[in-house]
Amino acid sequence: MWIDTHCHWDAPEFAEDRDAVLTRARAAGVQQFVVPTVQARDWRSTQALCRAAQQPYALGIHPLFTPKAKQEDLPQLDAQLAEAKDDPLLVAVGEIGLDFFVPGLDPARQQHFYLEQLKLARRHGLPVILHVRKSADQLLAGLRRVAVSGGIAHAFNGSRQQADAFTGLGFALGFGGAMTFERALNLRRLASDLPEAAIVLETDAPDIPPQWLYKTAEQRAAGELSRNEPFELPRIAETLAQLRGWSLAKTAAITSANARRVLPRLPC
Ligand code: ZN
Repeated sequence: MWIDTHCHWDAPEFAEDRDAVLTRARAAGVQQFVVPTVQARDWRSTQALCRAAQQPYALGIHPLFTPKAKQEDLPQLDAQLAEAKDDPLLVAVGEIGLDFFVPGLDPARQQHFYLEQLKLARRHGLPVILHVRKSADQLLAGLRRVAVSGGIAHAFNGSRQQADAFTGLGFALGFGGAMTFERALNLRRLASDLPEAAIVLETDAPDIPPQWLYKTAEQRAAGELSRNEPFELPRIAETLAQLRGWSLAKTAAITSANARRVLPRLPC
């Protein structure tokens, strides 16, 4: 059985065929996908979707959504985390973090929402799902100020030293479609060399398509879509299996055990 630790199943890209996406994932052996939220407006509806499908979810404000976020979203998050404390499907606070790649985002505002959400995760005893883009050192600094019970650094693509710092703080690192590209040398080296306990799998669907779904900018401009889906996870996992010299069964067992360790509320 596979666990996709990061899947935006609530995204508009899946509006037309959301149930079919779930069915295809299950048929491929992806029994669980964790659905992180990105903005307050989605918390109730995503929670309802996930409860109906019995899929785990996380509540949070994504760094790319901080321009629209409001200060009162934070007490609302606090209240919703308290309200869902006995919901076994609520597994983390997320997706939260910092993005220093996308231009035009206010770093101070991002830091504010990141640190305040870390405090909420700590208060509610929940791990966090982190968005890391050109921001690993700043995220680590935040975690040293506001200690939480670990979680996942999703779509990680930093240095070995940064990877070790995250794992030292109780985090696993999320690997997905980006690893399937042969030119992704840093990522492939990390996936090969990190301690096995450090690795979890994810699709980040509908984003980060694997190599076999990739469309060039020209193809996309011509209307060709490259939507990623959770059912791609076992095929993405084949890359990890090859890099590590593991069987697929071993890859599934290790990465699922790691996901359960860093997200302890994941239902069995
Ligand atoms: Zn995401």
